[in-house]
Amino acid sequence: LLSIAGLAAIAIHNAYLFEMTTTDMMTKLKLKHFFLNTLQDRMKACVQEEGTASLLMLDIDHFKRVNDTYGHLAGDVTLKEVAGIVLDAVRLIDVAARYGGEEFIVLLPETRRSEARNVAERIRKRIEEEGFVSGNHLIRVTVSLGVAEFDPKLDTTPQAFIERADKALYVSKQNGRNRTTLDA
Ligand code: GH3
Ligand code: MG
Ligand code: MG
Repeated sequence: LLSIAGLAAIAIHNAYLFEMTTTDMMTKLKLKHFFLNTLQDRMKACVQEEGTASLLMLDIDHFKRVNDTYGHLAGDVTLKEVAGIVLDAVRLIDVAARYGGEEFIVLLPETRRSEARNVAERIRKRIEEEGFVSGNHLIRVTVSLGVAEFDPKLDTTPQAFIERADKALYVSKQNGRNRTTLDA
């Protein structure tokens, strides 16, 4: 019995270590390296099974202003709150990651661009409506999003797929921020 308990303890500890090394502790979202591996696997499966998937890329608008106006700690609170809204809005099978400092990416398996757009807009509107409290400040931010649906002809690498979501995000920024753009 003791040795079974010992093995169980090791298994639990290994799961804990795996979680620790693949998750951003600040936002609770997955880390970039884990995300890229998962995306690569999912893209292979899409090709083999003729399945689909979409990517959603999100960047906080004028985030530098939050830091400059309210301080870095308030910036951190904002990042955590935005990440929480993203996590709350997606399904268990979706993979949400912190891709850069204030840039998040979500892999939505079995999801076409129109449905991905709905998810993106749900996230965008919730963030626009919500205020985040840090100390005695009420912080309001908006986010810009880009959506791309997997295209096996164009997306031969995870980077190529991400690049298309990033371009759509860039168009959202160019067109005035606080909006969602779909890949062409
Ligand atoms: P845009 O609307 O074009 O995205 O403008 P922006 O100000 O959001 O973009 P910019 O890239 O100029 O600034 C991003 C800022 O995010 C700068 C950086 O200091 C801040 N940042 C990145 N990671 C963190 C973090 O972990 N905590 C805090 N507080 N700030 C962070
Ligand atoms: Mg950015
Ligand atoms: Mg930004």
